[in-house]
Amino acid sequence: MKAVAVLPGKPNSVHLRDVPTPKLLEQPHPHVCLIPEGRAVLVKVLQVGVDATDREINEALYGNAPPGGEHLVIGHECFGQVVEVGEKVTDVKPGDYVSCTVRRPGGSLFDVIGRNDITSEEVYYERGINLCHGYLTEHFVDDAEYVVKVPQNLKHLGVLSEPASVCAKAIEQAFLAQHRLQVWQPKRAFVLGAGQIGLLATMMLKLRGIDVFTVATRPGPHLKSEIVEAYGATYVSTRQGTLADLARRVGKPDLIFEATGNSEVCFRAMEVLAHNGALIWTSITGGKHEVTVDAAKINLEWVLGNKLLVSSVNGNRRHFELGLQALSHGEHTYPGVTGKILTRPIAGLGGYAEMMKLLENNEALKIFVNVAE
Ligand code: BGC
Ligand code: ZN
Repeated sequence: MKAVAVLPGKPNSVHLRDVPTPKLLEQPHPHVCLIPEGRAVLVKVLQVGVDATDREINEALYGNAPPGGEHLVIGHECFGQVVEVGEKVTDVKPGDYVSCTVRRPGGSLFDVIGRNDITSEEVYYERGINLCHGYLTEHFVDDAEYVVKVPQNLKHLGVLSEPASVCAKAIEQAFLAQHRLQVWQPKRAFVLGAGQIGLLATMMLKLRGIDVFTVATRPGPHLKSEIVEAYGATYVSTRQGTLADLARRVGKPDLIFEATGNSEVCFRAMEVLAHNGALIWTSITGGKHEVTVDAAKINLEWVLGNKLLVSSVNGNRRHFELGLQALSHGEHTYPGVTGKILTRPIAGLGGYAEMMKLLENNEALKIFVNVAE
């Protein structure tokens, strides 16, 4: 079968290659973990979403091949249909629509209790990203433990399962951490960035009844601002004023969800958070970028204001389920809006060059490959 792969360490090495078609009883990543007997699921890939991580892997900034090989099959946002299951699998059956989690367990205590999404080990194993092959291929096998059912009526949004899990987890982490305050009820949130993560976070925060201001560079109207407004939030362009201006105008936010991919913005966000507020960081910023901030002022305000920084990455099966619940709730509340995020379909694995090219365009929103019908 065909797969889209890179040669990690070699810039612009993305290519289409032939790889063996997996069988139900084969172990996909024996160097990391074994599928217990009877618990395997064989999935036919229907769609795979791509994001900045895939672009950075192709730029050789990131990612490693599984041991013993030189290539890494990329793609970590999958949507597919179950073909065959082991005799001990009851959670899904052939024909079911599914997604599959990204990270596989290492050896830390967190991994052992099923929280591989917060492993304390520095080496982590992620399908399509680091040391395990990904989903940009025709079929894959994995442990039922990591396969998450997508409701039939949500299959048009199934390819957003992984990004939705990342948002749902990050928001849940902030609320869990804010239990320290006993009566925290955020009224106003700033979402920084209007890419897929920023837009999904906008929806999830609106569903919690919060007044949301989604901030990005380009002045509207355009598709991103239309989606923000269709979720009942306010779109704000930084060309019309700084974050500090916005905070002066509408009030400081109790919650900030940062998803711009720009490390300076991560720190600028610290200057506008309200007392007792939480700032969530989700951007993964490669390279080096030095900025000057007034550290004394931030430190003073953060200590006197009991402020909290929560960083969040990845999602495990429970976060995928939370993400799917939010997608479903969002679809009932704002019918048809989330689907507008899916802007750029690529026809088949053979479209990999166009896929990578589109990833360089910041305005492209969601690029995804239609692997099969
Ligand atoms: C993925 C996460 C992953 C992270 C770090 C992101 O693009 O969505 O699942 O943990 O990259 O590799
Ligand atoms: Zn990703």
